[in-house]
Amino acid sequence: MNDLRDLYQEVILDHGRRPRNHRSLEGANHSANGYNPLCGDKIVVMVKTEGGRVSDVAFQGTGCAISTASASIMTESVKGKTIEEARELFRKFHELVTGHEEPHGNLGKLEAFMGVSEFPMRVKCATLAWHTLNAAIEDKKDTVSTE
Ligand code: ZN
Repeated sequence: MNDLRDLYQEVILDHGRRPRNHRSLEGANHSANGYNPLCGDKIVVMVKTEGGRVSDVAFQGTGCAISTASASIMTESVKGKTIEEARELFRKFHELVTGHEEPHGNLGKLEAFMGVSEFPMRVKCATLAWHTLNAAIEDKKDTVSTE
């Protein structure tokens, strides 16, 4: 179990330091802003959907290592998925980080965040990118706040 924890730590550190899809997105047809006042994490999620599928997704913003790593892994996880699949993934991720679901090994890198269920404040950092993705897909104009 310790090895697994080390591995998860490494995944989060790696994505926190070198976030993937951390750029502006040309041709995005959805975007939303997210803010986590407890930690100061700010994010913009840009999405390009085609035929009900997420064809590209990117983010910009500044935040702690957890929020940045989570946004990075979120973009990798939902790219190419249908909007329904992306929503379902968020549901499962949310259950995992709030401790309502045991990890089964089928959420891939998303399981790296299972440790945050022990830290309620960190749950907001880990879910900010996902809440913002949802708001973008639903074309919500107001900034998403975790409060
Ligand atoms: Zn944070």
